[in-house]
Amino acid sequence: MGGKKTTTTTVLVVLYRFALKRNGTLTGGIVSRVCAGDWTQENKHTYDVTLFCGKATSCTCAARGDCKHRRAMEEREQTRRDVEQRKRETAPLNGNAPFSLLRRAS
Ligand SMILES: [Zn+2]
Repeated sequence: MGGKKTTTTTVLVVLYRFALKRNGTLTGGIVSRVCAGDWTQENKHTYDVTLFCGKATSCTCAARGDCKHRRAMEEREQTRRDVEQRKRETAPLNGNAPFSLLRRAS
Protein backbone atom coordinates (compact mmCIF):
# COMPACT_ATOMS: atom_id res chain seq x y z
CA MET A 1 0.00 0.00 0.00
CA GLY A 2 1.47 3.29 -1.02
CA GLY A 3 -1.06 5.36 0.87
CA LYS A 4 -0.92 7.83 -1.96
CA LYS A 5 -4.23 9.11 -3.12
CA THR A 6 -4.52 8.85 -6.85
CA THR A 7 -6.66 11.65 -8.10
CA THR A 8 -7.75 10.54 -11.49
CA THR A 9 -9.51 13.23 -13.37
CA THR A 10 -11.83 11.38 -15.64
CA VAL A 11 -12.37 13.30 -18.80
CA LEU A 12 -15.57 12.00 -20.18
CA VAL A 13 -16.05 12.66 -23.85
CA VAL A 14 -19.67 13.18 -24.74
CA LEU A 15 -20.33 12.33 -28.35
CA TYR A 16 -23.88 13.57 -28.46
CA ARG A 17 -27.03 14.16 -26.46
CA PHE A 18 -30.58 13.53 -27.45
CA ALA A 19 -33.92 14.03 -25.79
CA LEU A 20 -36.22 11.07 -25.33
CA LYS A 21 -39.64 11.20 -26.88
CA ARG A 22 -42.71 9.08 -26.47
CA ASN A 23 -45.54 9.45 -28.96
CA GLY A 24 -43.94 12.64 -30.21
CA THR A 25 -43.78 14.24 -26.75
CA LEU A 26 -40.65 14.87 -24.77
CA THR A 27 -40.48 12.64 -21.75
CA GLY A 28 -37.94 14.82 -19.96
CA GLY A 29 -35.29 12.19 -20.36
CA ILE A 30 -31.94 12.99 -21.90
CA VAL A 31 -29.56 10.37 -23.19
CA SER A 32 -25.89 11.20 -23.46
CA ARG A 33 -23.57 8.97 -25.43
CA VAL A 34 -20.16 8.92 -23.83
CA CYS A 35 -16.89 7.34 -24.86
CA ALA A 36 -15.89 4.31 -22.83
CA GLY A 37 -12.48 4.18 -21.17
CA ASP A 38 -11.22 1.78 -23.83
CA TRP A 39 -12.50 3.82 -26.74
CA THR A 40 -10.22 3.90 -29.75
CA GLN A 41 -10.66 4.70 -33.42
CA GLU A 42 -10.89 0.97 -34.12
CA ASN A 43 -12.99 0.11 -31.11
CA LYS A 44 -15.68 2.75 -30.82
CA HIS A 45 -16.96 1.62 -27.48
CA THR A 46 -19.62 3.88 -26.02
CA TYR A 47 -22.11 3.98 -23.17
CA ASP A 48 -25.49 5.62 -23.05
CA VAL A 49 -26.29 7.49 -19.86
CA THR A 50 -29.93 8.38 -19.29
CA LEU A 51 -30.86 11.40 -17.20
CA PHE A 52 -34.29 12.28 -15.92
CA CYS A 53 -34.70 15.74 -14.39
CA GLY A 54 -30.97 15.97 -13.80
CA LYS A 55 -30.79 12.54 -12.15
CA ALA A 56 -28.96 9.73 -13.86
CA THR A 57 -31.28 6.77 -13.99
CA SER A 58 -29.30 4.35 -16.10
CA CYS A 59 -26.06 3.65 -17.90
CA THR A 60 -25.29 0.88 -20.33
CA CYS A 61 -21.90 0.08 -18.81
CA ALA A 62 -21.26 -3.08 -16.80
CA ALA A 63 -21.18 -1.31 -13.43
CA ARG A 64 -24.21 -1.79 -11.23
CA GLY A 65 -25.61 1.05 -9.25
CA ASP A 66 -23.44 4.13 -9.28
CA CYS A 67 -20.78 4.60 -11.93
CA LYS A 68 -18.47 7.38 -13.01
CA HIS A 69 -20.47 7.99 -16.17
CA ARG A 70 -23.67 8.63 -14.24
CA ARG A 71 -21.87 10.81 -11.74
CA ALA A 72 -20.09 12.81 -14.45
CA MET A 73 -23.27 13.36 -16.42
CA GLU A 74 -25.22 14.44 -13.35
CA GLU A 75 -22.50 16.93 -12.57
CA ARG A 76 -22.47 18.20 -16.12
CA GLU A 77 -26.23 18.54 -16.20
CA GLN A 78 -26.12 20.48 -12.94
CA THR A 79 -23.51 22.87 -14.34
CA ARG A 80 -25.57 23.32 -17.49
CA ARG A 81 -28.67 24.11 -15.43
CA ASP A 82 -26.75 26.58 -13.26
CA VAL A 83 -25.48 28.38 -16.35
CA GLU A 84 -28.96 28.56 -17.83
CA GLN A 85 -30.39 29.76 -14.54
CA ARG A 86 -27.80 32.51 -14.36
CA LYS A 87 -28.49 33.49 -17.96
CA ARG A 88 -32.20 33.75 -17.20
CA GLU A 89 -31.57 35.83 -14.11
CA THR A 90 -29.31 38.29 -15.87
CA ALA A 91 -31.49 38.60 -18.98
CA PRO A 92 -33.28 41.91 -19.43
CA LEU A 93 -36.98 41.80 -18.61
CA ASN A 94 -38.03 42.53 -22.16
CA GLY A 95 -35.43 40.13 -23.45
CA ASN A 96 -37.83 37.27 -23.83
CA ALA A 97 -41.16 38.20 -25.29
CA PRO A 98 -42.79 34.98 -26.42
CA PHE A 99 -46.26 36.50 -26.36
CA SER A 100 -45.97 37.97 -29.81
CA LEU A 101 -45.88 34.44 -31.12
CA LEU A 102 -49.14 33.59 -29.43
CA ARG A 103 -51.02 36.63 -30.64
CA ARG A 104 -53.72 35.75 -33.08
CA ALA A 105 -55.12 38.02 -35.71
CA SER A 106 -58.76 37.84 -34.76
ZN1 LIG B 1 -21.50 3.79 -16.56
